[in-house]
Parts: sequence; C-alpha cells; structure tokens
Amino acid sequence: MSWGGTGHYKINSAVSLSFNQEMNQFSSWVETLADHASDADIRKQWDNNEAPKHYIDIDNYSEFISNGTIPQTLSGAISAHGSTFVYDNGILPWATITAYDSLKSCFERLDWDKAVLFASDLGHYVADGHMPLHITRNYDGDYTGNDGIHSRFESTMINTYISQITYSGDYIGEISDVNQYVFDYIYNNYQYVESVIAADDYATNINSDIYSSEYKSALWNYSKNFTILLFKNASHALTELIYTAWLQAGSPVMNPTGIDNPITEPTVVLQQNFPNPFSNSTKVQFSLNQNTKIILQVKDIQGNTVVEIINDVKSEGNYSFDINTENLSSGIYYLTLDTDKEHSVKQMILVR
Ligand SMILES: [Zn+2]
Repeated sequence: MSWGGTGHYKINSAVSLSFNQEMNQFSSWVETLADHASDADIRKQWDNNEAPKHYIDIDNYSEFISNGTIPQTLSGAISAHGSTFVYDNGILPWATITAYDSLKSCFERLDWDKAVLFASDLGHYVADGHMPLHITRNYDGDYTGNDGIHSRFESTMINTYISQITYSGDYIGEISDVNQYVFDYIYNNYQYVESVIAADDYATNINSDIYSSEYKSALWNYSKNFTILLFKNASHALTELIYTAWLQAGSPVMNPTGIDNPITEPTVVLQQNFPNPFSNSTKVQFSLNQNTKIILQVKDIQGNTVVEIINDVKSEGNYSFDINTENLSSGIYYLTLDTDKEHSVKQMILVR
C-alpha cells in the first residue's frame, strides 16, 4: 500500500483546491481521480513490474548519502549502479515521470478518457513520493527498531484522523523541468523519514501498546503538522503536473461531456498586467459580464496579501487602472481576482 486507500483518495480529490481559471474545465475529473487513486496499488496483484514503481530506497544510493542527489535519468542510474540495483531499490521517480509523459500524450491525442486515468496514476505516484517511508530503505522501521511503523502511520493513523487532514490550495504555475521537480520533492521529503521514526518513538514511550488509543493519538499529535503538509504538497504537485502536461500539449479545450457540464462563460476575465516585468507601476485590466462582488489582490509567493486593490461589488464593464508598487521589493508576485465562483491568477514580476 502507500498512504492507504484513504490517503490516496484524499490527495487525488484535493487536486481541485489549486485549480486556476484555466483548470476549471477539469472539475468533472475530480471524482474519477479520487475513485482511481489506488488503481496503481491494485495492479501490483497481477503485474510483476508494478511494485518497484511505488518506492525508492534512496538512501541505498551512496551518492545520496554524500551529496543528497542521485542520477536523475533511469539510464544514468542503471549505468552507474546496474539494473538489478536500480529495480531492487525501486523506480518511483521515473514511474512518476512516465505517468506524466503518458498524460501529456493523451492530451495531445485529445484522449480525455485515458488522460484522467493516467492523471489518477500520476496522483498515486506523486502521493507515494510524499510518503516518507516510501523513499527510504527503512520503510518499515526495521533499521531503527520501529517494526510495523509503515502501516501504523499510513493506514491506521490516517484512517483514524482523516477528518482532521484539511488544507487549502496554492497558486500553480508551469513547471519548467518536470524531472527536476519530481526529484526535488523526493529529496526534500526525505527529511521526514526521521520525523516519522521520531513520532513512533515518542508514541511508544507514551504507551508501548501500539493498539492503544494513547499510542495512536500520540503518533498523530507528533506527526500531524508535517503529515498535513505532505498531503497538501502532494495535492498541489499533482495539480501543477496536470496543468503543465496540459500546457505542454498545447492547452487543448476539453470536450464538453454532455449537458451536465455545460461550458459556462466566465463572469470575469483578468488580463495579464502591462508592462510585465515592471518597476514602479503596472496597468491592470479586467472585465465583468455581470455585477459581481470581486476581490482583487496582489500576493507574494507565500500567498500573503501585500496589496488589496478591490474588495467590493462592481458593476458589469471593463476596468483598467495602474497599481503603484513603489513599496514592494523585487520579486515574483501574483495578481489574483476572486469571485464567488471563479479564481484567476496572473504572475507579475517586479524588477528594480
Ligand atoms: Zn503505491
């Protein structure tokens, strides 16, 4: 398994939290993504090639221990270590990238039915890459005397506390290098291997009976912050990967899937600010096709609002004005426009 069925369902279904306006056409996917979140685990039962796709014992790579990185192509890893070593230690990052490539070619072929299934698998592998015990040789605690922690953490604990795993979305952008992106989150998530082990040590100290409610709640209390963060990051990464695959495939318009999902005209259209990049001021334009309450803000890359431009009901029409950014420092910002139903984002670059 891997995050258990409950965890995978949650991560795949939360993909829509980060949808931008362009991705709203994928709303009809969300249920399917969730329903098929564990297909990849089920395939292990009949496909012998499937199991190594769900993990990587990255700490068996000596260069990971010394430099924190490993060869990032499958062929590079095989030429450095031999294919027995590579497959024995799991091929999760490359399985993730393969699922991404398959998704992208489905978009290119406009094969929407298959695309959603590849996106479901992609979500599964992304989620596995955010489950710390799927990226270490100490995957079941054998190396540290924490035997059995794998299912206690990913299934018993997650099933008990799933209702407390709530989070919100983040801004998405196009990923410039998908291979690097996947390896980066795996390298980064590796730090939580130690945290999971520490959580188990903490909880067994409180009650050595791993079936007791004291043990379970202690495990959760110790690990909930980083567990929720890992879930959030996994859902966000899945959204960004789907978005990037779709952009790379030329942003094809999805077929309307019947009258249940009519393509509705957007209420609001936000233009890219001009000039961009800019230094002291930039022009913002948007149009409304009905009277609507809107919130127009400038946010920093952490998502903090740095300027609130409008928070009011506005009438139908076109709007254009300059925003003064003299008080902001150089960097990337997001211009966001929200209505009750829509969320639009433009990236702005401030250069002094
Ligand atoms: Zn898995």
